[in-house]
Amino acid sequence: MSIPSQNHPSTLSIRNLTIEYQVKRGAVQAVRNLNLEIRYGESLALIGESGSGKTTIGMGMMRLLPSTARIATGEMIFRRFDKAGQATGVEFDVMKLNERELRLFRWKDGAMVFQAALNAFNPVLKIRDQFGDTARAHGYLQGEALRKRAYELFGLVRLDPERVWNSYPHELSGGMRQRVLIALGLLLDPPMLILDEPTTALDILTQRNIMDVLKDLRGKLNFSLVFISHDLSLAAELADRIATVYAGRIVELGNVYDTFQNPQHPYTIGLMSAVPTLTTHRDHVSSIPGSPPDLIDMPSGCKFHPRCPLAVEQCKREEPPLIPTTDDEHLAACWRWMDAKQKLMPNPK
Ligand code: ATP
Ligand code: MG
Repeated sequence: MSIPSQNHPSTLSIRNLTIEYQVKRGAVQAVRNLNLEIRYGESLALIGESGSGKTTIGMGMMRLLPSTARIATGEMIFRRFDKAGQATGVEFDVMKLNERELRLFRWKDGAMVFQAALNAFNPVLKIRDQFGDTARAHGYLQGEALRKRAYELFGLVRLDPERVWNSYPHELSGGMRQRVLIALGLLLDPPMLILDEPTTALDILTQRNIMDVLKDLRGKLNFSLVFISHDLSLAAELADRIATVYAGRIVELGNVYDTFQNPQHPYTIGLMSAVPTLTTHRDHVSSIPGSPPDLIDMPSGCKFHPRCPLAVEQCKREEPPLIPTTDDEHLAACWRWMDAKQKLMPNPK
């Protein structure tokens, strides 16, 4: 599928989303004034260091936040499409849904597979019963119809349906469990699937396998995929667009090719330079100096300025807005984006 254009209505429009966690020391500002379109049928990667707010964004989108979290501001307009990809005209603000409506929204309109969910299965239930429970909770298919649907999904994620259906979770490997979770997420055929670190806990060959499964699924089913990952190679292979998250905000957003070839934000450039490859000498892999900010007591201005080699006075004073750079589709929040690539990339073309 080609990259959906910005003119097609989005599946989800997130506007001015701010999420805080209340802790003893104060309010952790995990997501700050976030604006993001999840485009119809696209694959979007959220990348960024640990603690930057990626999981909180994903949970916020599904309104699945823990009780210590407070959505301080924002709206999230969700649009339904027909099978041909035409907007049906049905749209609603996810923020305004009540508990009953939210239960319907989850799984049916969007599903999320959580970080470290491999151990989230109930150990005493067979996979068939876990599917049964989920289906029942949503008034979905039961019995033979459910089994058929599950078998179809197991086939898509390259699992042996007969074997998996009657297994207990401990009888499956980590990679198999991850694929079962992806299949479970797709049970009600949601137009939006959020995967939080889908390959992190797996060995390298199994990671490769999950990556292939996801590529394959995207070719066969039409859903928007939002995936969160530390792994830039996963983002490079699977994403149409990449959003770099820093201190609860998106600091760069662009299509995958542009982001890798032509990164505009010093932080994105830092993340990319920090990836070792088989052919780079260890001495050439750099890390980003310093550590992510304390989200309770953040620096003034651009939150990256204390770690940024290009920071000037203005960066200490004013937080830069996320604005178009080389073109309308490639945005960055940096006062110095025009200099960043030339000054920071090892071999700028
Ligand atoms: P990782 O890559 O480690 O998964 P992340 O980018 O997903 O990190 P989040 O888990 O969204 O980051 O966390 C964002 C910020 O919110 C962090 O500073 C984290 O410490 C804080 N945080 C997350 N969950 C809670 C919670 N339940 N209570 C308080 N603070 C939290
Ligand atoms: Mg996370």
